[in-house]
Amino acid sequence: MTLTSSYTCTRCRREFDFDNIKYDSNNKLICVECLDKQQKIEKKEKLHLEKAGEGEPVNFICVSCRFKFSIKKGSQKDAKCPYCSKTKLMLVKKYKDEDDLIKDASDPRFDY
Ligand SMILES: [Zn+2]
Ligand SMILES: [Zn+2]
Repeated sequence: MTLTSSYTCTRCRREFDFDNIKYDSNNKLICVECLDKQQKIEKKEKLHLEKAGEGEPVNFICVSCRFKFSIKKGSQKDAKCPYCSKTKLMLVKKYKDEDDLIKDASDPRFDY
């Protein structure tokens, strides 16, 4: 005789014994099957995100001469203005006008 307590998976609503149920990152009971599926999806999404960011041009504006240019994502660490060779650059964000950009100039994150 075995005493088995069963746990209900919050995903598939099926019942599992202790060995086949885990807690996911949100502290929810999830069966190993669903957890496996979930992890695969997360991996896929991560891969997709990394791929999407690859070689994607990022727009910058030079703080010194206001020259606008774009560089490929990932190479922005050693980016410098092609016009005056200064390395103080600002990211050009979408849907923002230049007044906002000037405010962003004091943000140390853009002080490459
Ligand atoms: Zn499940
Ligand atoms: Zn410049």
